[in-house]
Amino acid sequence: MTKFEGRNYCVVTYGCQMNVHESEKIRGVLTSLGMLETDNVNKAMVIVFNTCCVREGAEDRAYNNLIALQNIKKENPDTIIVVCGCMTQQKNGKYNIFERLPFVDIVIGTYNINELGDYLLRYAKKKQRIIEILDKPRGDMDVENAVRDDKINAYVNIIYGCNKFCTYCIVPYVRGREQSRKPQDIYKEVKDLVQNQGYKYITLLGQNVNSYGKDLDEKITFSQLLTSLCRIEGDFKIKFMTSHPMDLGDDLIKVMKDEPKVAKTLHLPVQSGSNAMLKQMNRHYDIKHYMRIIKRCKRLIPNISLSTDIIVGFPGETEKDFNQTIKLLKRVKYDQIFAFMYSKRSGTPAATFENQVPEAEKKIRVNKLLRLQKIIQQEKNKKYFKRTYNCLIKQQNGVAIGITDGGKEIYIPGYKYYNQNYFANVRVEGIRNHKLSGVIDE
Ligand code: SF4
Repeated sequence: MTKFEGRNYCVVTYGCQMNVHESEKIRGVLTSLGMLETDNVNKAMVIVFNTCCVREGAEDRAYNNLIALQNIKKENPDTIIVVCGCMTQQKNGKYNIFERLPFVDIVIGTYNINELGDYLLRYAKKKQRIIEILDKPRGDMDVENAVRDDKINAYVNIIYGCNKFCTYCIVPYVRGREQSRKPQDIYKEVKDLVQNQGYKYITLLGQNVNSYGKDLDEKITFSQLLTSLCRIEGDFKIKFMTSHPMDLGDDLIKVMKDEPKVAKTLHLPVQSGSNAMLKQMNRHYDIKHYMRIIKRCKRLIPNISLSTDIIVGFPGETEKDFNQTIKLLKRVKYDQIFAFMYSKRSGTPAATFENQVPEAEKKIRVNKLLRLQKIIQQEKNKKYFKRTYNCLIKQQNGVAIGITDGGKEIYIPGYKYYNQNYFANVRVEGIRNHKLSGVIDE
């Protein structure tokens, strides 16, 4: 029995889905030490801050919240404070944390979170502060018993890092170059999640999933990986994020069309409708290339749900550039957009660009974009009428609902629910106040 058994831990997470999933792995490591989870830092013997540095605001927030922990440490010196995540991987980041925050006991990187148990045991023995950041994982980074909150959708990492160097993004500097997991490890994890743990959706994660396999000795593409995962027996579907338009080929669109187990939804960040802005962002594609993918997807997969990310007010963005983004929205008619006002991230090239757009102008533009998207979404609701979607059937407040691959809810009044989640076809028969209702389409 270790001194950790039966004691509480608390994991505080900042940032994206990647970090959310890494926190699930951290919880798995701590649970395997016999620890119990709490969301109250005051009751925890081990406090882990899984940080993000994509936006400076998130980093400042994490620093401020960390500083607040020093009182806990003063009152209870046995508390062990761990910092991991992107902030520790920045140039000098680990030393900044170590020097600025002397009450932090362990600083580790994103590639050694699966070894957290060993670090804790070592710290408990020697009481010496630990700092260790790996450039690449030692073996497979999967933690077999990751603790996932969501019992329907499970995240699975397939590739770490990024080679793209978009001028606004810090990720390649902190997460390093692309490193794919071995296909056999991914297959084993997905099979276990589906067949032993009953997951209905598997979401494959990576900064750029379309680059999967390029760094492996064994030649395999992302579409080939997807095809092999679809051969796993079971009633489940696969989603993936994020895709980069430069690397998304026809082979992937074909697999999405042909494989019933691949969800008919695609998140394809465009960032801007202006070629001049895309060049400044170093995105490696133009709108003609992007629209070719979109048109092909719509033609081959008529029910596809499309979403995107857009940065508004990137340095040098003129009214004319912004209007091209408006035009793009009207052409694509996304089901969902995630629009962000550009914010400077020091350490990236764009932070030093001239012609920064004033905040007030960014706000005007982002609001205009969101208003337009609302109209498009309302308009798009009509396209659901009389169409059939393969949905995950769930129960909500006593009524059965079908959830489309794109996350749209269709109420199925009067339908007897079998008390377990499963997939079935649902035909939309009614639209009222933007709510959809339908019947099971056998
Ligand atoms: S593709 Fe661009 S935005 Fe995405 S992680 Fe890589 S550098 Fe960042």
